[in-house]
Amino acid sequence: MSKSVSQQMQQLKQMLLAHNQAYYELDAPTVSDHEYDTLFRQLQALEAAYPELKQSDSPTQRVGGQALAKFESVPHRQPMLSLDNVFDRADLAAFNKRVCERLSQEQVEYCCEPKIDGIAVSLTYEQGVLTMAATRGDGRVGENITDNVRTIHSIPLRLAVEPEQCPLRLEVRGEIFMPKAGFEALNASALQAGAKVFANPRNAAGGSLRQLDSKITAQRPLSFFAYALGECVAGAMPLPTTHAAQLACLQEWGLPTNKMTAVVANPEAVLAYYEDVMTQRPRLDYEIDGVVIKVNSIVDQVALGAVARAPRWAVAFKFPAQEALTRLEAVEFQVGRTGALTPVARLQPVLVGGVMVSNATLHNADEIKRLGLRLGDEVVVHRAGDVIPKVVRVVQHHRTEAEGFIVFPSQCPVCDSPVQRLAGEAIARCSGGLRCQAQRKEAIRHFSSRHALDVVGLGDKIVEQLVDKEMVAAPLDLFQLTAEQLVGLERMGPKSAANLVSALAEARQTTLARFIYALGIREVGTTTALHLAAHFGSLEAIIAADVEALQGVSDVGEVVAEQLTRYFQDPQQLSMVRDLAALLTLTAPPTTGGSVQPLLGQTWVMTGTLSRCSRDEAKALLQRLGAKVSGSISSKTSALLAGEKAGSKRTKAESLAVPIYEESAFWAYVDSLERLED
Ligand code: NAD
Repeated sequence: MSKSVSQQMQQLKQMLLAHNQAYYELDAPTVSDHEYDTLFRQLQALEAAYPELKQSDSPTQRVGGQALAKFESVPHRQPMLSLDNVFDRADLAAFNKRVCERLSQEQVEYCCEPKIDGIAVSLTYEQGVLTMAATRGDGRVGENITDNVRTIHSIPLRLAVEPEQCPLRLEVRGEIFMPKAGFEALNASALQAGAKVFANPRNAAGGSLRQLDSKITAQRPLSFFAYALGECVAGAMPLPTTHAAQLACLQEWGLPTNKMTAVVANPEAVLAYYEDVMTQRPRLDYEIDGVVIKVNSIVDQVALGAVARAPRWAVAFKFPAQEALTRLEAVEFQVGRTGALTPVARLQPVLVGGVMVSNATLHNADEIKRLGLRLGDEVVVHRAGDVIPKVVRVVQHHRTEAEGFIVFPSQCPVCDSPVQRLAGEAIARCSGGLRCQAQRKEAIRHFSSRHALDVVGLGDKIVEQLVDKEMVAAPLDLFQLTAEQLVGLERMGPKSAANLVSALAEARQTTLARFIYALGIREVGTTTALHLAAHFGSLEAIIAADVEALQGVSDVGEVVAEQLTRYFQDPQQLSMVRDLAALLTLTAPPTTGGSVQPLLGQTWVMTGTLSRCSRDEAKALLQRLGAKVSGSISSKTSALLAGEKAGSKRTKAESLAVPIYEESAFWAYVDSLERLED
């Protein structure tokens, strides 16, 4: 028995050591963190059950990987440890109990921080000047990366502290990380250049820091949060005696610390903190993988001490994994409104971040090629927040060569029409138009959607049945439907049928802008439709406009203008549009000869992060509506558009009584502009 257990332990040890090397030394992991953590916990469990077989060089007793020989080694004055993990309420309660018992205290105060997914570094400041930066390495010896770290803007080369307060030597520990946007941009350009792509922002930060040429590091978007002190020699002024106060002090001296740091009184408050940070996680512009809970009193930290790999006074409370391993069972192709074929991965169902995932988007043929995906492959699936899950990687070394190739169809899977991919376009499309049932369904859904004709009660399931039963082939047919016909549909009683018929009758009174949008012309969204209606004033004028005339409309560039002319040039399409228009009553706004500019003469300011579009897009929209956009608030500012985490501009706007539009209110206002045209 114990022989096979010992073999099993040996095997786990070898696998973990190989993964450590790939992860810590090469910045190129070959398995997901989840898979690694599972192996790690298996070894921990065996070691707990068979302590006599535990080896002192086990990965459970060690920190990180070896320092690379290409860098000068730096022995750490105080070991740089890893952290033990807790995964749920019970683990957390057990941690708190251990801490309280060891300290003989009823209750302990904790300082909680987000766990930044980056690379641990130690920064040494002597008399306030940065003299050494080192990686964690194996916890005892790290790599000298001072030149590289000097290129990171958020790390001060000199502390902002008065000489009389300056510690003689200050060792600051923290995490260097790559923000999400920087990581994506770096990988996109690496992909284009055929260079190495990083698996995640943490590995990208590691790879960027461990460069022999600091000019390369300087080009990488790296940032830093300080989260603790290492070994320090205080000057005339003693250092603060709580962890939170030490962080505040570092912040004051110019070292960035995380704003979500909070001191809490008990484990219940830790849990509330954890939940709160988890909900904020998708909106942060850097990756975090949990929260770190630390005993706040430094005296208590020292009293608690450390075990081989981790301190006893801190623990990482990890978030559920956002990545999981599963198998690709099939690829199906969905046909969208414009005929675009989207490959969808059908996966063996797997739990990712607490949600069962069985489908993931594969975007287009290029993405399948980029992933090198084959049917039957073992894949890593990623799901963050409410974002649609995606396949991020193929586990190449688990390939059996029995996997099948994915063939992009040359005919539409729904209507058999040829699939076309125009040169320069990533998307392949079914050429069937409204002959294709799938496109028909999507076209009708779009036509009756909220920002189009807004037909209340015409849900997806009903559209599906109407098309499948061939009761509706085009939007026009909707208006011929009778309550008697509708009653035959699933889940459609006489009352709902009558309601739907009257909703359709009501929808016939609409605006020109809504009608243009409802047609589903490629590239024509609600704002463009609004501008077209305002500029031309009638459907016939829009139909008659050539590319040049169309480009005279604000928001219409060459691509949109070409889509519009191409759409109306198709004789069948044009007669369908005219027949529809004849059936409806379209009200058009008075033509402005330009765009709708209700904000003319106003000056707007923006602050915080917007969720529905980028700041640049919001700025362009405000300008199109006639407003000037300024960077600072004054008494002359007409309004402030405030996104998430609005900062000092908001406070200033409040003090100057400048009207503040929350983002949701702003979009409601923009939407209402269209209704104003009704
Ligand atoms: P860790 O990342 O789980 O936790 C310890 C580290 O957290 C510290 O060293 C510090 O750098 C960091 N940290 C971030 N924010 C902090 C804060 N506010 N306060 C204190 N510390 C903070 O441990 P680790 O030893 O660095 O790495 C182990 C983990 O790495 C594993 O659990 C696994 O997920 C991953 N790993 C993966 C592979 C792989 O092949 N996929 C291989 C090795 C390790």
